[in-house]
Amino acid sequence: MTKLTRDPSLTHAQKLDRLGEVAVRVGLGLQEGQELVMTASLDALPLVRRITEHAYKAGASLVTTLFSDEEATLMRFRHARDGSFDVASGWLYDGMASAFKNGAARLAIAGENPSLLAGQDPDKVSRANRARSAAYTPALELIAGFDINWTIASYASPAWARAVFPNEPEEVAVAKLWDAIFAASRVDLVDPVAAWAEHNKALHARTKLLNDKRYSALRFVGPGTDLTVGLADDHAWEGGASMAKNGIVCNPNIPSEEVFTTPHKDRVSGHVTSTKPLSYQGTLIEDIAVRFEDGRIVESTARTGAEVLAKVLDTDAGARRLGEVALVPHSSPISASGLLFYNTLYDENAACHIALGQAYAKCIRGGDTMSPEQLAAKGANKSLIHIDWMIGSSHIDIDGIAADGRVEPIMRRGEWA
Ligand code: ZN
Ligand code: ZN
Repeated sequence: MTKLTRDPSLTHAQKLDRLGEVAVRVGLGLQEGQELVMTASLDALPLVRRITEHAYKAGASLVTTLFSDEEATLMRFRHARDGSFDVASGWLYDGMASAFKNGAARLAIAGENPSLLAGQDPDKVSRANRARSAAYTPALELIAGFDINWTIASYASPAWARAVFPNEPEEVAVAKLWDAIFAASRVDLVDPVAAWAEHNKALHARTKLLNDKRYSALRFVGPGTDLTVGLADDHAWEGGASMAKNGIVCNPNIPSEEVFTTPHKDRVSGHVTSTKPLSYQGTLIEDIAVRFEDGRIVESTARTGAEVLAKVLDTDAGARRLGEVALVPHSSPISASGLLFYNTLYDENAACHIALGQAYAKCIRGGDTMSPEQLAAKGANKSLIHIDWMIGSSHIDIDGIAADGRVEPIMRRGEWA
């Protein structure tokens, strides 16, 4: 057995513990004396405890977990007065932002019910989302700007498992989802930390190759899609482990298979169709089709969740423009599982995707030290939102377009060319 082979003798409890260890050591790179602020659903308590233990073993000075409860969220939508939906706990998000400014690391545990708010009034849903996005902005800017080390890991909640495996009894569905999470997070291997080091090396080789190419645009062609995504001036490809401005190396997503960069906010044109459903804050948005002109979405439709999508696009001036473009081969381990996860952390690592809204400063060369105006001048988009949605499949071809107009194949039928 090498360190990269699967260890079939591991129990569920051992794998959960290793997920906690990978989240702390690989995901966060948590440092001696550093505070940790974690958000999680009550369902995720067993994983929260594994993470908490590993965080203190790694030298955390204080671990603070903010729990949420989906039943409580539903009660608000069922019974709260209309004015409730324009309110967000700004004091809480301000507190998070202040913790980050004082050096705390950030860990989010995903695993929400992808269609929790299906059937709720779309107007209330989008007002609540908007109020939350606005209140969360100061904290999100510190995360998106990589001021701090952060990561997202996931937990197989019963509601999420039922969505992924609708034909299985709940217990079986949860067990199967755990298998998928453990495999994608590389914690079922003999040495997960060594496996992540190898994986990061492979992702870094890919970003170096793309950075050396300096393409001025990417063109996606496939069924329902002919999209040209101009890249920002001095764009930088990122992927895998990354150094935050506080000097700490973290892996922002567990799992992660993507390499990504910043599109130019004014240089996207053509039409594109989503290839997987998008679960956005409890609303399932399926079969999205949009058309871009000069970087801006000028037409949009969706088979489900169209109203929520339309309101998301009106969040602010940057919500109709792209802040990220990411490449993931169709053969990525998550995609090879053949599962549809209805969870962005998983689905975005199974397919090429684009994100509406805020761009990552890190994806501009020297962007870490630039002002918002300097970033905008390079073409980086600004918005309250950052929403990834999937446009890749085994039917998509991608070309790189060089500054002199030369065209090179990057992906054919969803695989690296
Ligand atoms: Zn992405
Ligand atoms: Zn993204």
